[in-house]
Amino acid sequence: MNSSQLKPSSVSQSHWRDQLRSAYSDPQALLDALGIRVDEAKLLSHAPFPMRVPQALAARIQPGNPNDPILKQVLPVDLEQTSQPGYLDDPVGDQASRQTRGLLHKYRGRALLITTGACAVHCRYCFRQHFPYAQEHMGGSYSEQAIDYIATTPSINEVILSGGDPLMLSTERLTQLTDRLAQVPHIERLRIHTRLPIVLPDRVTDHLTQWLSSLPWPVVVVVHANHAQEFDGPVDQALAKLKQAGALLLNQAVLLKGINDDADQLVALMERGFLSGALPYYLHRLDKVTGAARFEVPEEKMAGLMHELRVRLSGYLVPKLVTEIAGQPYKVPVL
Ligand SMILES: *Cc1c(COP(=O)(O)O)cnc(C)c1O
Repeated sequence: MNSSQLKPSSVSQSHWRDQLRSAYSDPQALLDALGIRVDEAKLLSHAPFPMRVPQALAARIQPGNPNDPILKQVLPVDLEQTSQPGYLDDPVGDQASRQTRGLLHKYRGRALLITTGACAVHCRYCFRQHFPYAQEHMGGSYSEQAIDYIATTPSINEVILSGGDPLMLSTERLTQLTDRLAQVPHIERLRIHTRLPIVLPDRVTDHLTQWLSSLPWPVVVVVHANHAQEFDGPVDQALAKLKQAGALLLNQAVLLKGINDDADQLVALMERGFLSGALPYYLHRLDKVTGAARFEVPEEKMAGLMHELRVRLSGYLVPKLVTEIAGQPYKVPVL
């Protein structure tokens, strides 16, 4: 791999699907491309939740740095295979909130659609990494069941497209879905939870923004970046296009040991996200999902971090630190 292949700008804008196909799936190949040495015994080459890193994201990893904050989010390591007490396959009670195939109804007023199991990046802390997508995503004809549930539940006024990542669907499929949702009169807002504008910014095509601006509801797009280093020119452009299409942009992050559990890094993330057009939404405490224990930040440390953020940031740049507790009717504020 030469360095020009790592430059996102060298990849044609219309080919986000090609970029998905050329994503790194072999940890050693990624490390070789970046000139990073990691003890081979510590790598997990055939992880059950395989590595997936688009080249556009790999281009933002600092060559030669084994502690790079992006690399740590995506590199499968042997520690994932050590089981830890309190870490579960479904830490947030998704299965209990399942109403029909592909639809989670956990909080009043909001229904969440598992539009697909696929994502462009496999974050090692992903709370849905053990989710049974093969049976549970809202594929093909099954979407009718989910739409029926929404149509017959008048208290639902917001639909959240989630996954996997909803922007892994073609714009045609998204259009079919929102055309159906548009027939449900009590929907007032659409929310899209996606990491693609960050990890694969070329997904934000003109076709996608035309679809967004044609929707009959106010649209909120919640992106997901954990570190200021995840932002670059192409990400700025992608977010600017989403904003131009009328979406309100928010960013959510997960507090991750060794990645962003530091006041300077968090301040930089919130300020950089703002420059790119996204206000902070949630800062999630790690969901205790099997395999992710190495990312846990102790509770005592969180208090100090939140204090620092409140001291140093404008009020609107302070994220809400929350945790998800199965069975609770909202995401619970931590501090
Ligand atoms: C997080 C989540 C939501 C959205 O919650 P907000 O607090 O409104 O962001 C909705 N449904 C499910 C199943 C969720 O996990």
